[in-house]
Amino acid sequence: MTQLLNADLHCHSVVSDGTLTPEALAERAKGNGVELWALTDHDEIGGLQRARDAAKSQGMGYLTGAEISVTFLHQTVHVVGLGFDADNTDLREGLRRTRGGRQERAMEMADGLAKVGIKDAYEGALKFVGNPELISRTHFARFLVESGVCKETNEVFRKYLTEGKPGYVPHRWALLKDAIHWITGAGGMAIIAHPARYKFTPNEEFALFTEFKGHGGQGVEVVTGSHSVAEFGIYAHTAKEFGLAASRGSDFHSPDESHTELGTLPPLPAGLTPVWELLSARIQ
Ligand code: AMP
Ligand code: MN
Ligand code: MN
Ligand code: MN
Repeated sequence: MTQLLNADLHCHSVVSDGTLTPEALAERAKGNGVELWALTDHDEIGGLQRARDAAKSQGMGYLTGAEISVTFLHQTVHVVGLGFDADNTDLREGLRRTRGGRQERAMEMADGLAKVGIKDAYEGALKFVGNPELISRTHFARFLVESGVCKETNEVFRKYLTEGKPGYVPHRWALLKDAIHWITGAGGMAIIAHPARYKFTPNEEFALFTEFKGHGGQGVEVVTGSHSVAEFGIYAHTAKEFGLAASRGSDFHSPDESHTELGTLPPLPAGLTPVWELLSARIQ
């Protein structure tokens, strides 16, 4: 399969912190010319059957997907899994455990916000939640925009939901090793999501890629809605350096919030192995 295939292998539905249903996402992806699509909800595969059915009725190639939250060197790192068997017990159990604790974390976030005068944020965020097991910072951000505290979600993250800010609660997610093993044990490929978003030193980033490879990780997102054009080039180089396949995905969440539309990113830089080449047997 070619480098130029319009693959969009990263987006979110109402099953995590997106605002569209799996069906609406599939329709939107198809409308934008996507040929191979994956829904990658955070820590959750509850939308995949609907996503598969919708992709098939739209005539798009489809891969199973999820984006797993991991803690590595005190930071949150996201690992995208593609092409796994969604019925795999270890994977399902691992994701269930990773989701656990989100509700408690959300109540602590609301306590933090209450201390700076923002009342009832837990109840407010819940109004935006499509899946009670998957309350995320994004849902708090939507509530704070709706209630007029901030103009847009980006501003909420900057002022309230990132480290050192009143609504931020440190959290321990899955181990890198476990997330990779859940994915590969279910026959899928583990991919480091949007590496430019992390605030690692060069040494720490080297450790991330080295450990990721060592545990059986095979891919890295190079062309993503979270990277600048310069970062496409930087991580194309990293992919080659570590012998990783390259992925492409918008990370689309919502028509109102996402700056990158489904299926509209540039193609992968030349000289990289696209993840879909290695996953061709897993495409449905
Ligand atoms: P959580 O898994 O609850 O920590 O929420 C993480 C989610 O918040 C990410 O997947 C993004 O969708 C969203 N997010 C993180 N940082 C920002 C930001 N600066 N602006 C808007 N959304 C963000
Ligand atoms: Mn998200
Ligand atoms: Mn992510
Ligand atoms: Mn994402």
